[in-house]
Amino acid sequence: MTTPRRLLVIALIAFLAALAGVFVGRALVDAPRANETELHAMLHRDLKLSPAQQQRLGPIEAQFKARHEALERAMRAANVRLAQAIEAEHGYGPQVTKAIDETHAVMGELQKETLQHLFAMRGVLDPDQAKMFDKVVVEALTADAR
Ligand SMILES: [Zn+2]
Repeated sequence: MTTPRRLLVIALIAFLAALAGVFVGRALVDAPRANETELHAMLHRDLKLSPAQQQRLGPIEAQFKARHEALERAMRAANVRLAQAIEAEHGYGPQVTKAIDETHAVMGELQKETLQHLFAMRGVLDPDQAKMFDKVVVEALTADAR
């Protein structure tokens, strides 16, 4: 690997790690799902995709939609188990702890797959759209920090 190429790869990894960090941070402090879903919808609305790009995105979107729905179902099931655990223990017992860990695991998976989907989307963009994508994503993820 040549040096400029290696630097580019390092920069990209740092960028992804920073994004992942923000996502994980949000998972622990607030309800991040609405934000990610909004961000995803906003990107689809604002990117002005060409018919050819829409076509390339078709199978990518279908796959993500199926995974998203499955994870939403898993989240609802985990919330039901959490409610049952709270009812059973009336406090912060081992069942509640386990149920909370489970909801975080599902949330983390949803964020991971949403992020993977966003980068799959970025793969079909032209350079101008990619620039806008980066700006929108970074602004959305840092909105609370400013
Ligand atoms: Zn999408």
